[in-house]
Amino acid sequence: MRGFAPARAEAEGVLERKYRAIPDAAHAEANLRHITSEPHMAGTEGSHRVAEWLRDQYRSFGFDADIVTYSAYLGLPREVSLELMTPERKKLATPEQAYEADKDTANPKAVGAFNAYSASGDVTAPVVYVNYGTQEDYRALAAIGVSVEGKIALARYGHCYRGIKTKLAEEHKALGLVIFSDPGDDGYVQGDVFPTGPWRPMSGVQRGSVEYTEIYPGDPLTSGVGAESGTKRASPGEAMNLSRIPTMPINAQDAAAILASMGGVHVPRNWQGGLPFTYHVGPGNTTLHMKVSVDYQQRPIYDVIAKLHGTSDDEWVMLGNHHDAWVYGAVDPGSGTAAMLETARGLGELARSGWKPRRTIVMCEWDGEEPGLIGSTEFVEANLAELQAKAVAYINTDVGVSGPNFGGSATPSLKELIRDAAREVQAPGGSRSVYDAWLEHVANADGQFSGAARLTAKAEPSGDAPLGDLGAGSDFCAFLDHAGIPSMDMGFEGDYGVYHSIYDDFYWMKTFGDPTFAYHATLAKVLGTAALRLDEADVLPFDYPAYAWEVSRAAYGLNTRAQEAAVASEKMKAVVEASAQFTASATRASAALQKAHGTVTVAVEDRINRELVQIEQSLLEPGGLSHRPWYKHTIYAPGSYAGYAAELLPGLSEALDNMDRPAIDREADALTAALQRASERLDMVARLASSK
Ligand SMILES: [Zn+2]
Repeated sequence: MRGFAPARAEAEGVLERKYRAIPDAAHAEANLRHITSEPHMAGTEGSHRVAEWLRDQYRSFGFDADIVTYSAYLGLPREVSLELMTPERKKLATPEQAYEADKDTANPKAVGAFNAYSASGDVTAPVVYVNYGTQEDYRALAAIGVSVEGKIALARYGHCYRGIKTKLAEEHKALGLVIFSDPGDDGYVQGDVFPTGPWRPMSGVQRGSVEYTEIYPGDPLTSGVGAESGTKRASPGEAMNLSRIPTMPINAQDAAAILASMGGVHVPRNWQGGLPFTYHVGPGNTTLHMKVSVDYQQRPIYDVIAKLHGTSDDEWVMLGNHHDAWVYGAVDPGSGTAAMLETARGLGELARSGWKPRRTIVMCEWDGEEPGLIGSTEFVEANLAELQAKAVAYINTDVGVSGPNFGGSATPSLKELIRDAAREVQAPGGSRSVYDAWLEHVANADGQFSGAARLTAKAEPSGDAPLGDLGAGSDFCAFLDHAGIPSMDMGFEGDYGVYHSIYDDFYWMKTFGDPTFAYHATLAKVLGTAALRLDEADVLPFDYPAYAWEVSRAAYGLNTRAQEAAVASEKMKAVVEASAQFTASATRASAALQKAHGTVTVAVEDRINRELVQIEQSLLEPGGLSHRPWYKHTIYAPGSYAGYAAELLPGLSEALDNMDRPAIDREADALTAALQRASERLDMVARLASSK
């Protein structure tokens, strides 16, 4: 057992088995029923009520729990309207349809469709279809002489974070952006639609933020510091992560009315979506009138922080998920929270029966994730020094359950820990482990995954179950990218087309996602097992040879790119050398640690652990990445034009994309220095582990 002396591994096994007997499906179902009982968007009283209920739940499990409040610049929609003006007039922005089978779909308190952090605006202009609205799509448009300048861009959801669509539309001088859900991507082309099946019906809309989180997430006016009441704030005009054009989301039936009327040339074959007619690029004679009016104010954000105190309060094992939802949020985020509450109940029961955690367990329920990772970002910014001194790792579980397929993403040092935890837990409905079910699914799916990024990980050549890299898109972002705390995200996924719509509700989960709630209970068991391993380990169970392998592979790839582009330099060579040194140091430290188990004193183990928790932080560049200094990590960041997907060695990679030679040199220097710092820490670990 990684991190445990052989004599201690048995006791850990007993503790974990005792824990895994506790989480159950009935409690998880009751949790989700409560969480989804009313809409609870960030910035509303519903969100405050959920936070109070969560705090009380954690207290009832024996945690020391409180609400921490921040004040963020956050808008709620006043008016979001859309009208087709020509070739015929038609009111659009139609609401999501209510269904008799599911009374929750008729709630007038559900917020209408809007994109958080859209600018207000009132524009009338011809429309151009821009496919997914990616850089590549705009290049294709330019090649056929079509521009969105002075027009309204119409993009379908998918392929990149929606904020990137807004940023690119703005960069190409569009007056506004309308984003629609295409049935080819998450509607009837994929399968039966709600309420018959799990996919998006024609009236279903995807709400969501267009904050430029790849520049910085969180409160737009307090980048880098906690949004507390006395904090000095920028003006909205100074905020670099806000768009200047209006953006709104629409459903497929409204998109059909617009697209069917459009002229211009036929779209390229791979731009054709799932609506039953040929799409045209436009503009032709189709004009739209869009109006977005947003009520921006300082609004309260309610995080819940719950602690189960350990023997040492100087080391924290952290878990988190958000509690705010666009409407009910049964999958996103309720399923993760329902499982986390079962994890907390299990840990609380262990504590009541006499166990005391070695390290303090901190469970966090974030508010404001949906508009822009606000609760977690402000918490990390406000408590940066303490977190960097104490936090051992952060375990996230957004979108905890939307089906039966396990997956995860993590910093490479923690990937094997997720696999280990999955090996210990029984999968629902059979005698095999979550890990074996995971491997079997990966083999059958043959690398073909849909849905969230964590399932796009390809099979590993080693035969291990694949895990993705952390980009952005959930609350681990500030922990990893800003604070350098090792992080992971995991959950069970499946056919899930109702993301960010009113239909992501209890009925959906009970009918399609997890009717017996067995996967919720199973997730709680995996989460708790991973947390207990981290909590109780003699030596923190980080796998740095795996980390070094991934860094070396990426560095080698970038060096090859640089050679092909004839910009290879001594500085690029130094990066490759520093990654080889990192690999050698990681291998030596790992071998020394294996030999040391049970032979070094507790005091030496403490010193080893203090070194180990600093390694990830030594990969931070204090000045941050070029053009986005909030992002400090030299190994991981969200891509500037992908948004959710992780970009490896982001500073250097983007400097190469831009063929910016001074930036290539600067970023290569920063990366080399970071890898050298990490190697020195690992060398210290090896020395300590070899000392007697
Ligand atoms: Zn979420």
